Amino acid sequence: MRNVDLHCHSTVSDGLLSPSEVVSLAVKGGVDVLALTDHDDVAGLAEAQSAASSNGIRLIPGVEISVSWDHLTVHIVGLNIDPLNPELLNGLNKVRGGRLERAKKMGESLASAGISGAFEGAMSFASSDEMVGRTHFARFLVQQGKARNVSAVFKRYLAKGKPGYVSHRWAELSEAVSWIRAAGGIAVLAHPGRYKVGSAGLRALMQDFKNTGGEAIEVVTSNHSEVQVHRFAEYAQQYGFMASRGSDYHGPGESFTLPGRLPPLPSICKPVWQSWS
Ligand code: AMP
Ligand code: MN
Ligand code: MN
Ligand code: MN
Repeated sequence: MRNVDLHCHSTVSDGLLSPSEVVSLAVKGGVDVLALTDHDDVAGLAEAQSAASSNGIRLIPGVEISVSWDHLTVHIVGLNIDPLNPELLNGLNKVRGGRLERAKKMGESLASAGISGAFEGAMSFASSDEMVGRTHFARFLVQQGKARNVSAVFKRYLAKGKPGYVSHRWAELSEAVSWIRAAGGIAVLAHPGRYKVGSAGLRALMQDFKNTGGEAIEVVTSNHSEVQVHRFAEYAQQYGFMASRGSDYHGPGESFTLPGRLPPLPSICKPVWQSWS
């Protein structure tokens, strides 16, 4: 059986490894089909594609789009997209546009909480101004000794309701799905078990996603428990979604699930990758 991992990040967004380093790590882990899915940007795909070709694995061009739905931020992964499609590129450009301003506000908000220099600090961890995000703030705060690791920093400073959190309006769900479809891709609801919403809200989200043209959900992802894997496999069947599998790998020391080191999809699932092979 092929080892398929359809969700991971590089330094183009908030990963710690370059696109070719991510590919090498995936190859070492026995991955046969890999998607690079940086947040709101496709700039790492050319490098990842050439590394994949020289290593004999298949690279699926991907992206993970930040979306505001109701009061939640949700992530929509686009798989097998054409990274040159103008509609997609314009859309991603628009989503990235707000990040720098948000980061300045986060810096101000942290300063009022007694932490100075956070904006400049976060920028020093980001590979481009427009892709600065909460993970870069988290790395700065860890460096400053404010918490022992990125995940503890999120809990204390960067999650909703905490001093460094600034609310932000990302793309609409229908926009993200339509950009992905315009680029010939499949829209996948990322890590559905992570959204802080009850089961009625989750169902409303999946129904909306389905109605706007979403075709798959992540059933196996690093933060899903066994129970959640089975729950989302059943949801996928009920709603007629294909199922995806992805580690959401960000880098050594931060992500404890390595590329491809995930359980298989439950047998009731229809794998999203079946449509490409
Ligand atoms: P942003 O798009 O700037 O709001 O950042 C979102 C990113 O922050 C996610 O893609 C994760 O990489 C990271 N993140 C969010 N919540 C957590 C958490 N609780 N622990 C560690 N990383 C997190
Ligand atoms: Mn991330
Ligand atoms: Mn995500
Ligand atoms: Mn991700």
